[in-house]
Amino acid sequence: MDHSENEPLGSGAVAVPGQHVTTSLEVVAEVDGSYLRLSDAEFRTRIRTAYRRMAACDLCPRRCGAHRLAGHAGHCGAALKPNVFVWNLHHGEEPPVSGTRGSGTVFLSGCNLHCCYCQNYPLSQLHHGTQMPVGRLAAALIELQEKGAHNINFVTPSHQVPQLLAAVFAARQQGLHIPIVYNTSSYDELSTLVLLDGIVDIYLGDLRYTDEGVAMRLSGAPDYVQVAERALVEMHRQVGDISVDEQGRYVPRGLIVRYLILPRHTGMAEEVFDFVSRKLSLQTYVSVMTQYFPAYKALDHTLGISRKLTDTECGRVMRTWSRSGLVHGWVQDMAGDEKA
Ligand code: SF4
Repeated sequence: MDHSENEPLGSGAVAVPGQHVTTSLEVVAEVDGSYLRLSDAEFRTRIRTAYRRMAACDLCPRRCGAHRLAGHAGHCGAALKPNVFVWNLHHGEEPPVSGTRGSGTVFLSGCNLHCCYCQNYPLSQLHHGTQMPVGRLAAALIELQEKGAHNINFVTPSHQVPQLLAAVFAARQQGLHIPIVYNTSSYDELSTLVLLDGIVDIYLGDLRYTDEGVAMRLSGAPDYVQVAERALVEMHRQVGDISVDEQGRYVPRGLIVRYLILPRHTGMAEEVFDFVSRKLSLQTYVSVMTQYFPAYKALDHTLGISRKLTDTECGRVMRTWSRSGLVHGWVQDMAGDEKA
């Protein structure tokens, strides 16, 4: 892998280009979201299907059966209405997502994973946020587009898919046209992801663990590994790899796999890169994040993740990455900023 530095496209991010080097000042090609091509009838069918599943919720792998249509919250903390913490323009995502004008991030409240180190725990675990009508969320999406966002970036969306589909549909009728980014832990149910086919253009999918014991201990999800790997294969089937056009601009469609290095857990890196290279594609863009710091419950020494990463740990992962055959991606600067 060529580790030479590309232009500083995202704050705190250092690009690690492979075969492609972006040459244009316009980093991201202006392309309409795929959902513009979906018929109203098909869109409505998907929304109906998704909402029906909230009667005994099985939208995510927890399948906790909450009667969300009656207003009951599930294991993820979400009930019927969209529950949103904040929306804004965000410049710290990967270059194809943040581009030059920023990504229109919508931070959702609640989460179906329970990571003891979550940096967004006030919203994900303590459920800070505002329940709002779908129409209000749709208006927020239009607002982000008017501010110049390259895309709408739903952060932690897995448990609110019906509401997001409904909001995108409503916003489309008001002129929304920018692509949709699904920014997920990858703890996603396959049948729910299928509802997003032809609607989401960029998947930002984590692969957090390759060890089920670690997934249970740190996120309370013993089936995370098999669920996430299956989900990433489906995401890749839908959108393929990120590509670059003749002008050297990223085409905003494809899968980016994120891997957050955890202290004392760098042994999983080899399996992460191995999965991506063998089950997805050698052309897959990987985003390696080194900005870990112990948040939420992670200061508990018994969890083994109560400190930041060391240079040695980062170097070990970089060497593993270099040997993997993967040629595209970015690494977050050790002193990098906070990411969604
Ligand atoms: S999305 Fe929430 S309510 Fe639905 S199954 Fe998952 S945890 Fe339960």
